[in-house]
Amino acid sequence: MRYKTFGKIDFEVSSLGFGAMNLPGVPFEQAKDALNYALDQGINYIDTAAAYRNSEEIIGDSISHRRDEFFLATKTGQRSYAGAKEEIERSLVRMKTDHIDLLQLHYVNYVHEFKQIVGEDGAYIAALEAQQAGKVRHIGITGHRPELLAKWVRKYKFDQVLFHLNLAQPFALDELIPTMAELNMGRVSMKPLSGGFIQPVEKAIRYPYSQDVHVIISGMVSVAEVKENIAAMEQEVGGAERLELENLAIELGEHNCRRCNYCECPIGINIPEIMISSKIREKLGLLPKGDGFYQKQKEKLFSCADYEPCKVTPLCEQKCPYHLPMQQVVQESVSYFS
Ligand code: SF4
Ligand code: SF4
Repeated sequence: MRYKTFGKIDFEVSSLGFGAMNLPGVPFEQAKDALNYALDQGINYIDTAAAYRNSEEIIGDSISHRRDEFFLATKTGQRSYAGAKEEIERSLVRMKTDHIDLLQLHYVNYVHEFKQIVGEDGAYIAALEAQQAGKVRHIGITGHRPELLAKWVRKYKFDQVLFHLNLAQPFALDELIPTMAELNMGRVSMKPLSGGFIQPVEKAIRYPYSQDVHVIISGMVSVAEVKENIAAMEQEVGGAERLELENLAIELGEHNCRRCNYCECPIGINIPEIMISSKIREKLGLLPKGDGFYQKQKEKLFSCADYEPCKVTPLCEQKCPYHLPMQQVVQESVSYFS
């Protein structure tokens, strides 16, 4: 694991960040042990969100007594001034702290949402106010549209962006990461396993570790997972390995899906997950979690070919900002079951 100055933020941040999103799904003692073990091992970046069920409370109950050992990042999904103001206060109480190191405007994927956030009655004003009051130290933004994020960070002052970067979603490398590097912003990547599809874990982690990011957020729920993630960062990535990983990312990212979730399927097919996993499935096969997802979707995937309203023009494709051939990819996915 390495430590780097976090862009313009005066903090030496660990390359592995603890993603606390899934902690509410495990027994409290297990979550507490994982968090404390992570701090013991030198992980000093904890990432959560107001929207992650009681994740903020688990952090408050487990490690608030060690508050000076970590950089605490949370998120507000509220778009309005009043909503964000209230949510920031709630996060402080839940995490048992008097300050949030980084407040991120959560999951901003549409231009109209961003306009609302930075408008005169928007969440950004509430974040600035909390910053002036010392309750929030820095302001960041998260989203699934890297090219939009790259534009927004040029127009408004953000200290950090949280974005996807993994072997199946290398798209932040095109414009977003170079823009952020130029602006000397904190660069944090998420979903190294792309939602549980990429294997092995070591390779999945080492890809973003080979790129120009400060922190890789990995969702962890146990001491064993913390150990596994730390082990993947024991050694720096050399030139040959980096090239191999980059070539693999070109192959696995060929589907071009950013997981923006603009598309909807009337029969409930999870199109982004099918798109993202399509090349992984063909090249590497699926992990048990990925297989479970496909088994659950099986009936729906077969139904796509017969769904009458999509015969002439697929409903999903009309929504995709990248004009991707989702119907074809979904229909090809049934070959997994043969
Ligand atoms: S084409 Fe298939 S995946 Fe797309 S909306 Fe229609 S049924 Fe759903
Ligand atoms: S298929 Fe298109 S609309 Fe759907 S998540 Fe991917 S990029 Fe977005």
